[in-house]
Amino acid sequence: MSNAAPAPSDQAIVVLSNLVKSYQLGQTVVPALRGLNFRVNRGEFTAVIGASGSGKSTLLNMIGCIDEPESGSIQIDGIEVTKLDDNAKSQLRNRKIGFIFQSFNLIPVLSVEENVELPLLINADVTAAERKERVKQAISDVALGKFSKNLPDQLSGGQRQRVAIARALAGNPDLVLADEPTANLDSENSHKIIDLMLQLNAQRHVTFLFSTHDERLMDRVSKMVHIQDGVIRA
Ligand code: ADP
Ligand code: MG
Repeated sequence: MSNAAPAPSDQAIVVLSNLVKSYQLGQTVVPALRGLNFRVNRGEFTAVIGASGSGKSTLLNMIGCIDEPESGSIQIDGIEVTKLDDNAKSQLRNRKIGFIFQSFNLIPVLSVEENVELPLLINADVTAAERKERVKQAISDVALGKFSKNLPDQLSGGQRQRVAIARALAGNPDLVLADEPTANLDSENSHKIIDLMLQLNAQRHVTFLFSTHDERLMDRVSKMVHIQDGVIRA
């Protein structure tokens, strides 16, 4: 299996323009994004690197349609997200985007297989037979076939994050967003997770955008952007 990413097309899947977002904290306004511009092309594997508090999570939550900006434009696959109502936004999120979180966010009482299946259950377009097939394929893609029936607490941290990756992939997303996916892992497992994401990017042609505050992980990542104080640094 090759780890070489496919040549990214220059078709944009994410285009952000002049994005502004701040949070209200009691009487104070905390700026998080200050007129941020950013673009991701289809097929790319991009790392967003920045210190804690630089705006990484806010940025990914904007792209993932989890939160809304105060002003600016967010285009996902040519669709202006800021103009969509909540229903259309969650449809777009379910159809096009997969999420991987720092803390894995697995459901402890569900098996590996059931965790991966869960987001597919709300997608009426996917038949039961196709759902089973996709779950099996995604679990095999992250090499956890032997652990399908296990519960999350019977797995290591690295294995749990692989379950979360399988869950993100099972929806056949165009774009996978991973917010500090290695922050709770040791260095060996962090490298393994990055390698797995690179391999899936090459094999499945899924676009990956992930954030990290650890620049040392990035030897093998071709496209890195630095975020500082809520803007992309040149
Ligand atoms: P990162 O993910 O890079 O650590 P965040 O996007 O979480 O950065 O945060 C950007 C800025 O916004 C920081 O100053 C942070 O303290 C602030 N912030 C983030 N979320 C909230 C919130 N819910 N309420 C108040 N301030 C927040
Ligand atoms: Mg964060």
